[in-house]
Amino acid sequence: MRIAAGLIVAGAVSLLASGAAWSQTPPAKGAASPPAAAAPQAAPAPKAAAAPTRPACTNPNALGVGRTVEIDTTGGPGFGFEHFKDLDFLRDKEVVLTFDDGPWPVNTPSVLKTLAEECTTGIFFPIGKHATYYPEILKQVYAAGHAIGSHTWSHAALVNKKLTEQQRKDEIEKGFSAVKWALGGTSPAPFFRFPALQHPPEIVTYLGTRNIAIFSCDLDSFDFKASKAQTIIDNVMRKVEKMGKGIILMHDFQKHTAEALPELLKKLKAGGYKVVAMRAKTPVQTIPQYDEDLLKEAKLPTVSSRPVSSVVQTISE
Ligand SMILES: [Zn+2]
Repeated sequence: MRIAAGLIVAGAVSLLASGAAWSQTPPAKGAASPPAAAAPQAAPAPKAAAAPTRPACTNPNALGVGRTVEIDTTGGPGFGFEHFKDLDFLRDKEVVLTFDDGPWPVNTPSVLKTLAEECTTGIFFPIGKHATYYPEILKQVYAAGHAIGSHTWSHAALVNKKLTEQQRKDEIEKGFSAVKWALGGTSPAPFFRFPALQHPPEIVTYLGTRNIAIFSCDLDSFDFKASKAQTIIDNVMRKVEKMGKGIILMHDFQKHTAEALPELLKKLKAGGYKVVAMRAKTPVQTIPQYDEDLLKEAKLPTVSSRPVSSVVQTISE
């Protein structure tokens, strides 16, 4: 495992399922345990996400965006043939780019730079803890016009029998609340990806009651196992050429993925593939109790940003 911050603890690393990755320890503060149970209830309507639009494209050879689809997540639809077969909405030669486990310094900004150069877009599934460490990076993802969902609070394997059902729900709800906090109160899309693509049936059902769509994948890049960028490019191109289309699973958390992306996107363009942007019809409705508990437990900074002149006044000299 790569040590990015000099301190690392393996989170939920599954050797059994694809897409396994990990949540790293914070650079400064400790991880809070999930909050006490809060019964899901109707929340006030989330802030309408006036999603930023992508900037005008100045690269005539860019991969671009083929089409944009809007997803009605009512009832929790599932996407990705690895687990769900019903919603086959991609046309031949269409792909969806997805990035898990961020936001993370260097690698996530590098991915954003490449996507901007190619005038294209993806869906980001951040880990809640990582969002609280690096909210400014997640805000950059949002500002660039990409879709943002959630990938749990701590990347816990939700099939782990040691977790109670309430703890599994806490992982989901706190993850969405953390992303919302990182985005300055803007609710993300109701798009969720299970850590290591492990889907406990009762949580799949729960997500349905929360109107949250589940994203599996069609093409796993296995980038977290790759020792160099070329392996990731080769993995994705081999699979996409075989399947003809699909949702591609990558990790903006991974250095080699960031390195592979420029060449990979050029190869997709050369192969005639088109990127589909997926947007949610309405943002996720977070549960207020989790929003509040997150602030309390994580002791997130609430330092005043008032200018010095408004805080300090000379009253005698
Ligand atoms: Zn992951």
